[in-house]
Amino acid sequence: MKPWSLPFLRSALLLALAACGMSPNTSARPLTQDEYLRSRELMVPVQGVSRRQLRDTYSAPRSGGRAHLALDIMAKKGTRVLAVDDGYILRIADNELGGRTLYLTDPSRRFVYYYAHLDKRVYGLQEGQRVKRGQLLATVGTSGNAPKDAPHLHFQLLQMAPGKQWWTGEPINPLPYLRKKGDER
Ligand SMILES: [Zn+2]
Repeated sequence: MKPWSLPFLRSALLLALAACGMSPNTSARPLTQDEYLRSRELMVPVQGVSRRQLRDTYSAPRSGGRAHLALDIMAKKGTRVLAVDDGYILRIADNELGGRTLYLTDPSRRFVYYYAHLDKRVYGLQEGQRVKRGQLLATVGTSGNAPKDAPHLHFQLLQMAPGKQWWTGEPINPLPYLRKKGDER
């Protein structure tokens, strides 16, 4: 009998599948935070900006002894601000420091993406609305406490806090996870 006959292949395949299913290492272990964020293939959320143009300002000091805990992505006022990931708009709000802001979340609502110092938001955006990675959301500006001569997007990645209190989540440096150049779909 020929060793590579069809029944032989089929039983070999079934054995291989059974072995996979029984192996503890390949069972449905949930992705770690790092694995999950890498799998999102996040886009630089400012149009035309590549990953290599980003400066790591995550640990930079800020007033009052605080650390920045976010990235500042420098761009001309009016440059398009894009959805970093597929997901949903959590909140559309204004605050004193951040100015005009947006909060997004990923499809599994594990993380929060905070956008601040926006100039204009796209007309008609709604909280709860679904967004696609690369979708136009707003434009870069200097609202809030951003210097008027240095328009930029203040972008922060946060773990979703228990109880979905997105504003209290633990910050994470987004730089290693921004994989794709900022371009519209
Ligand atoms: Zn900032």
